[in-house]
Amino acid sequence: MGGIIYLDNNATTAVAPEVAEAMAPYLGERYFNPSSMYAPAGAVAGAVKEARAAVAALIGADAEGEIFFTSGATESNNWAIQGAARARPERRRLITTSVEHPAVREVMREMARLGWTVDELPVDRAGRLDVAAFVRALRPDTLLVSIMHANNETGVLFPVAELARIAKETDPGILVHTDATQSVGKLPVDLAGEFRHVDLLSCSGHKLHGPKGIGALFIRRGTPLRPLLLGGHQERGRRGGTENVPHIVGLGAAARLAAAHLGEAAQIAARRDRLEKAVLERIPWVEVNGAGAERLPNTLNLACHCIEGESILAQLDAQGICASSGSACTSGSLDPSHVLKAMHVPFTALHGSVRFSLSRLTTDAEIGRVIDVFPRIVEALRRLSPYWDVAAATPRFDAIGADGPTPA
Ligand code: PMP
Repeated sequence: MGGIIYLDNNATTAVAPEVAEAMAPYLGERYFNPSSMYAPAGAVAGAVKEARAAVAALIGADAEGEIFFTSGATESNNWAIQGAARARPERRRLITTSVEHPAVREVMREMARLGWTVDELPVDRAGRLDVAAFVRALRPDTLLVSIMHANNETGVLFPVAELARIAKETDPGILVHTDATQSVGKLPVDLAGEFRHVDLLSCSGHKLHGPKGIGALFIRRGTPLRPLLLGGHQERGRRGGTENVPHIVGLGAAARLAAAHLGEAAQIAARRDRLEKAVLERIPWVEVNGAGAERLPNTLNLACHCIEGESILAQLDAQGICASSGSACTSGSLDPSHVLKAMHVPFTALHGSVRFSLSRLTTDAEIGRVIDVFPRIVEALRRLSPYWDVAAATPRFDAIGADGPTPA
């Protein structure tokens, strides 16, 4: 697959060669079950222990009591929310946001079907949460708050550390979960420092140059949480199933690499900013979804008015450029992104979003190529767009409004 420009790192990342190399022996001669009693199995158990320590070190957790391996962030999110509800059935309220990944959003919907009250906090035009609305939502029977750290579509960051502190000051019995799948490995996350009021945190291997199908749930010591997967003594009796050793080892290697490369965030942001600036200068009627909010260093979500994101992606693909029109999990459906809808992105741009997400492997030359190609694609598609003439004659985006152009 030489020659492609991969700018879809929020969907998944390339497995780092060091990670694949670390995994290889555990797909080969080191196949032993880490629970077995002979020496070669002991060595495998040692590798799992080292991987746990590496993940713990990346996020400031205690390796031996707080990191639990899962099949990925989807399972971690399911476990955090459903496990908390089973542990504290007397508390009947849940708080979340309107822009969570489906791996939280759909669990919350299920909880609502089962009788819990779920408060979904709105966001503003830049994708920011209203802290006052959060405070108002905290009630005496609130079980858990689940608020993502970084949004996968826009990269917008929520002030999770502050919200967790407020929740705990209001009622220490409220549990705080954050889906940090998109921030771990991209930004410092310190559960012993800034994030010390967070009880539960989800992360995933394949967003940080590790393998897919492996992740972790951080469970702060003492947090009441029932298991989701019953059936074995593994993970201290809290998550049954023979350990996925090769992938656990891969996640450990990815965590070590991520820690070593965290300092490159500013370089990644500089490349992203170069792309953002060039696009805004060269293309009329383009906005940055999440402009004005704090964002991940690697993410650029563009609202291109009057054209379809899917068509832009097809044209980019034809040029060997991989991007996304929102969350990969929802692509294939014609519904506009729930995240952009929640942000009140205007009608003419709701279907026209393109997400470029960079990694530390993205080069200046690749960004230069996108700057060259992307404006031409947008221009060509707009020549075919029935809305473009109306929009081009309108002085400002916000004059269009959320319900579409007002007839003259
Ligand atoms: N949460 C967020 C914010 C994500 O971006 C993703 C991956 N798209 C997930 C959860 C699900 O992670 P996994 O693929 O490891 O289940």
